Amino acid sequence: MLMSKSSAAAGSGWRAFDLFEFARTAQSAAGSVALSDLPRMVNEVASEGQVQAAERAEVAGGQGVTPGAPDDMVHWTARGETRVMSGSKNELYLHLTIDATPWLDCQRCLGPYRQPVDVAATFQIVASEEEADAAPLDDDEVDAIVGARQFDLYELIEEELLLSLPLVPKHDVCPSVHEALVTGEAGDIVIEHAAEDEPMRRDEADNPFAALQALKRDVPPKSDA
Ligand SMILES: [Zn+2]
Repeated sequence: MLMSKSSAAAGSGWRAFDLFEFARTAQSAAGSVALSDLPRMVNEVASEGQVQAAERAEVAGGQGVTPGAPDDMVHWTARGETRVMSGSKNELYLHLTIDATPWLDCQRCLGPYRQPVDVAATFQIVASEEEADAAPLDDDEVDAIVGARQFDLYELIEEELLLSLPLVPKHDVCPSVHEALVTGEAGDIVIEHAAEDEPMRRDEADNPFAALQALKRDVPPKSDA
């Protein structure tokens, strides 16, 4: 782990540091930022009340969760690199890793769950949008980013986190299933309560669309009968 402190920025300085200098001098740094400081992530994560209820349930259920664990933190490392190119100007790179475990709302049972997110990305730092557009697309592993002397690392981290979230967030195995899925008339869907004794029929249980279909069929638009 690259833990060496960079002189380029400290604390919230990562919202405005010289990315060119960081790469040119091959600096590295590591830190943490709260999910709540990433405004677009806040829209994606489960509501606080639901999360607290889920945490209490986990603690009560003895699932080995450490109360007060800093789940709301995003841990990151950054490393700058200069590649000396013969015959043309040097190329600057940023290597970024992100490690977070945000709470998301499961789209199958609507309960919150922890979604581990691991990102390891390499970016080529360019000077302008034009240069980014002109960057060769033959390397799938490297994206071009436009550098700045007041670069916002947290915005890049947020962007990468958002891109890494699952399209349809859901538990691997839901702790309990919405009533409509169990009692509904969609007879082909057999989801037992958390299926601990018999193996869940994963093909169906993992299909969120089947679950949505069942919900659509069985829940009237207005439930105040
Ligand atoms: Zn679920």
